Amino acid sequence: MHTESFIAELQSIVGPNHVLISADDKAPFLTDWRKRFTGKAIAVVMPASTEEVAAIVKCCIAARVPIVTQGGNTGFCGGATPYPSGHEIVLSLKRMNRIRSTDIANQTMTVEAGCILQSIQVAAVETGHLFPLSLGAEGSCMIGGNLATNAGGTNVLRYGNARDLCLGLEVVTAQGEIWHGLKGLRKDNTGYDLRDLFIGSEGTLGIITAAVLKLYPLPLSQWTTLVATNDIPSAIALLGLFQKRAASLLTGFEMMTQESLDLCASHFPQMANPLSNKPPYTILIELSDHESEEHVRLLLEQILETALEDSLVSDAIIASNLSQAQAFWQMREHITLAQAQEGANLKHDITLPLSSLDQFMQSTDALMRSAYPGIRIINFGHLGDGNLHYNIAPPKGVDPHAFNQAEETAIHELVYAQVEQYGGSISAEHGVGQLKLGGLRAHRGAVAHDMMKAIKRALDPDNILNPNKVVSI
Ligand SMILES: Cc1cc2nc3c(=O)[nH]c(=O)nc-3n(C[C@H](O)[C@H](O)[C@H](O)COP(=O)(O)OP(=O)(O)OC[C@H]3O[C@@H](n4cnc5c(N)ncnc54)[C@H](O)[C@@H]3O)c2cc1C
Repeated sequence: MHTESFIAELQSIVGPNHVLISADDKAPFLTDWRKRFTGKAIAVVMPASTEEVAAIVKCCIAARVPIVTQGGNTGFCGGATPYPSGHEIVLSLKRMNRIRSTDIANQTMTVEAGCILQSIQVAAVETGHLFPLSLGAEGSCMIGGNLATNAGGTNVLRYGNARDLCLGLEVVTAQGEIWHGLKGLRKDNTGYDLRDLFIGSEGTLGIITAAVLKLYPLPLSQWTTLVATNDIPSAIALLGLFQKRAASLLTGFEMMTQESLDLCASHFPQMANPLSNKPPYTILIELSDHESEEHVRLLLEQILETALEDSLVSDAIIASNLSQAQAFWQMREHITLAQAQEGANLKHDITLPLSSLDQFMQSTDALMRSAYPGIRIINFGHLGDGNLHYNIAPPKGVDPHAFNQAEETAIHELVYAQVEQYGGSISAEHGVGQLKLGGLRAHRGAVAHDMMKAIKRALDPDNILNPNKVVSI
């Protein structure tokens, strides 16, 4: 491959201004959000249309240059970061940010992959609808990235993952063909579900260029409460109580340990827990109602009354206005930001059956604390989905880079062995990328892993799309 003529060809497809080749211009695209992975790339290419994406793929096949597709670059697994070899290009979809159409009768919106998640939420509200995908990075992550990672977030309990919110896709294949799968159908049993194959494939099977998204009626009223619980069994019983009494009105159920909120408050003092006496577990609960403000407030108060009588909770604060509700959510979301400010921490984005959660936490905490005295376990997550962010930080005051490679590996192995023992998953919502590539075969088992490799070989025989992410062939 002759680099200069390859770059000239890319420039002829997207225009010279949209092929970044200087080190300074490329730099923001070459390191991931957590600053854990840094790579190199021949160029960062920014197409403006699906046809341009298809032409770029054909150009890359001819030159044998692999493509790392990138959305908002907020992923946690290094999936959007090229490898240090410098033989790849980064394909940024940030210019493909049009909302193509809204179909009110069908309750769908068709958007391009580079739309920022928040801009889709806002556009949905403008039509009187809700697009329920919601996560801490929503101001910068893009819908293509959300679908490529099958993102979760805080509303999964009620509305499902990104996969559940998507009815159709437009995809550029590894051959540079365009698959027009943008039908907004809620039923379509015409053979293998290609849409579901691309969702969650992290840019390894195709490049998502547009999607049909499901819209929902906008709730009339939302009420948020923070409650204190002493232990995980109480928190799970509380979840059951809310599911029984509030049913589909329950839209959020987030758990934060005292240690995670202490860390948050140490970096963001304005985000201190308003509940007194630092409860071991603080639960953030949200109800959304389509009937009336009065109806949902009353329901919330009644459920909390039962929870207090049954000693499931020891304290509760109901947000009295929108800004207090937002402050509760910000406290939850700032835990991740506090971790980023604190420096290196070892993340484990895991799910477990709710029935095993308590045993998992008790035994893993005990193993961890005895192996690494003083270690901080920053544990929080989407409890309603059984999803924990079981993160490990060195003891307070110790250099945040204190973990050496051997310790890092041992800590991951300890957590993942526990996850296996309790029937969980080593990636709940963040994906695999390069971070968990090595552990996937052991976790999924040889049969599943071989099927994944066969799919990758069939759809991308030249291994041109994000090679050595998720699976290596
Ligand atoms: C503060 C914070 C909070 C977060 N909270 C959550 C959370 O609650 N739940 C959750 O699930 N995640 C969360 N994340 C992780 C992250 O935001 C999500 O994984 C998000 O979906 C990634 O979107 P992105 O556009 O940034 O994708 P990127 O990071 O750019 O890419 C992620 C992967 O998708 C691929 N990709 C990107 N765009 C496309 C495309 N158009 N076609 C094909 N492949 C593509 C990339 O190659 C890469 O493998 C959080 C991140 C941050 C920083």
